[in-house]
Amino acid sequence: MEKEQRRVLITGAAGFLGSHLCDRFIKEGCKVIGMDNLSTGSMKNIEHLFPVKDFEFYFHDVTKFVHVPGKLDYILHFASPASPIDYLKIPIQTLKVGSLGTHNLLGLAKEKKSRFLIASTSEIYGDPSVHPQNEEYWGNVNPIGPRGVYDEAKRFMEAITMAYHTYHGLDTRIARIFNTYGPRMRLNDGRALPAFIGQAIRGEDITVFGDGSQTRSFCYVNDLIEGIYRLLMSDYVYPINIGNPDEITIKEFAEEIIKLTGTKQKIVYQELPIDDPKQRQPDITKAKEILGWSPKVSRAEGLKITYEFFKKVLLEQK
Ligand code: UDP
Repeated sequence: MEKEQRRVLITGAAGFLGSHLCDRFIKEGCKVIGMDNLSTGSMKNIEHLFPVKDFEFYFHDVTKFVHVPGKLDYILHFASPASPIDYLKIPIQTLKVGSLGTHNLLGLAKEKKSRFLIASTSEIYGDPSVHPQNEEYWGNVNPIGPRGVYDEAKRFMEAITMAYHTYHGLDTRIARIFNTYGPRMRLNDGRALPAFIGQAIRGEDITVFGDGSQTRSFCYVNDLIEGIYRLLMSDYVYPINIGNPDEITIKEFAEEIIKLTGTKQKIVYQELPIDDPKQRQPDITKAKEILGWSPKVSRAEGLKITYEFFKKVLLEQK
């Protein structure tokens, strides 16, 4: 007998990670229902999927009651603003999509008996005092700071997801995603990588916030998607870090981008945003042991691909 086609709902489908997930599940032979309200996503990220018969798009805000007809094997909740400047612009929506949105989707998952995976984040560790961050660390978050709207929404998201698992027996997965980059990031989303590459291409100075000694660890998007897929297919219900442990200071990162792009511009230092984490590096022991996953794409390789993507985007804008 032929196996029934798996059906998956992906929220935030027009966003950076959501759109790559849609591609992956189409490749796996699934029927993909992509949902987005386009508040930070872009149709451009999924327009190539419109002719695909296994793809369907729902323009919908998940903070409102969510209805999807038919069975759903998996629900992946990736809808959310994901850049610090977005949290400042739309703080209430950021809180709502993580809380009300997650609640609606959990209700849907319960009704459909779907496996439910959430995009949590390294931000739940706040400005961490444990380094590298392992999943047992509870974090150091300022609830009322400008980033609190995102951090606390994601912390609530983990709590309610775990509660649905414990009290309703829902099959759940929690991915703690660290800084990820690659094609389909928004050039103007304010984050370090698109900001630096955009500035280099436009011939502007590179804006490093603070003294640039803060660290981040950047994961290429294809590696991240593989980690998410493996987590979904595993039976592990506790939070798991997915990221690349290759840590770098933001100043060194800016220098790498100056070298990559060959720009003649210099680094200029600007004020460090409030509550900007001083250090961030995932401990991925669990992902390695439980999922057999570790990132494969080096920063040099990933940055080259991403640079080519941004050059094309800017050319098209001209
Ligand atoms: N950053 C910077 N210049 C920019 C944008 C960001 O120096 O134009 C810094 C930011 O202060 C932070 C790091 O780069 O320390 C990574 O910031 P991003 O917004 O990419 O992600 P997050 O802080 O959420 O990790």
